Amino acid sequence: MSDVSRRGFLQSAAVVAASGGVVPAIAKATSGTNKRGPLVISSANGLRATEKAASMIRGGADTLDAVIAGVNIVEEDPDDMSVGYGGLPNEDGVVELDSCCMHGPTADAGAVASLRNIKTPSKVARLVMRRTDHVLIVGEGALRFARAHGFEETNLLTDKARRVWLKWKERHSDRDDWIAPANEVDPKKQADSLAGHPQTYGTITCCALNEKSEISGVTTTSGLSYKIPGRVGDSPIIGAGLFVDNEVGACGSTGRGEAVIKICGSHTVVEAMRHGMDPEAACLHALKRMANHTKLPRLLKKNGKPAFDVKFYAISKDGKFGGAAIWSGAKFSVYSDGENRLEDAAFLYERGA
Ligand code: ASP
Repeated sequence: MSDVSRRGFLQSAAVVAASGGVVPAIAKATSGTNKRGPLVISSANGLRATEKAASMIRGGADTLDAVIAGVNIVEEDPDDMSVGYGGLPNEDGVVELDSCCMHGPTADAGAVASLRNIKTPSKVARLVMRRTDHVLIVGEGALRFARAHGFEETNLLTDKARRVWLKWKERHSDRDDWIAPANEVDPKKQADSLAGHPQTYGTITCCALNEKSEISGVTTTSGLSYKIPGRVGDSPIIGAGLFVDNEVGACGSTGRGEAVIKICGSHTVVEAMRHGMDPEAACLHALKRMANHTKLPRLLKKNGKPAFDVKFYAISKDGKFGGAAIWSGAKFSVYSDGENRLEDAAFLYERGA
């Protein structure tokens, strides 16, 4: 174990012991320290984003413009069904996007929620920050704001996403009038087949630090699939799906947004770093608090552990980085010391436990 990961382990063990919880397992080689050039962290779907953001920062771009250009690649990619164009829709078959961004040097923030028809909500969030006196604009107002700035409108529901949604629509209940094709499923067993089409989460978050110690971050998503129209997750909520403090560091999240909102997740991680924890230890600290704050039986497995997953991805002002999830097996993208790669995230519980 390197000095850095040993320190992370000792800190997180101390935190968990202090909270009276179980000492979490820590995956190997999950955290580190960037020594030169830009440091960029993102979710596992963000390898192209970290690469793009790092190259822009090396070219002198502002950290916020760099991370937004990075996530734009995934927002515009129809094959990522958790973000932007091609994202899975709400229960009515309409794609609604959430995003927020924070610019460390100016301590400024912008966000949009339940935005329809615009492929790149992160760019609209940045305009809310730069061209209004507000932080968050939602729904119809967000769309009108985007139109005012000349954004092109697109039907965000790709045929692939529509077919996945239709399958869900036809199978999620045997007490409505939607019926799956006869050759595909026994209509009496429609509800049983829901297990094959679960609601899905997915998001991209990306935070970056440059050599001037400036930090910015962005989070963008189509949110929980088949959500109730108008549902807003953590991704556009400053302090939940993203938090940046230029004096301390930054954190973004993915996974069950409702759980992240309830503990002000990313803010909690940054506050833990402010009090001296390494990014990985801070992420584990917030996840442990989340597990302790999960009380509703419908959200718990039989063994009392959370029946969902959440991941945090954090960087600190002194160039350290780390990611952690409730359940083992998660990865995150990182660009550090000139190398772009996927790393294993630390975790609270071994999957299957
Ligand atoms: N956090 C997002 C939300 O709850 C979804 C996700 O990251 O999977 O909307």
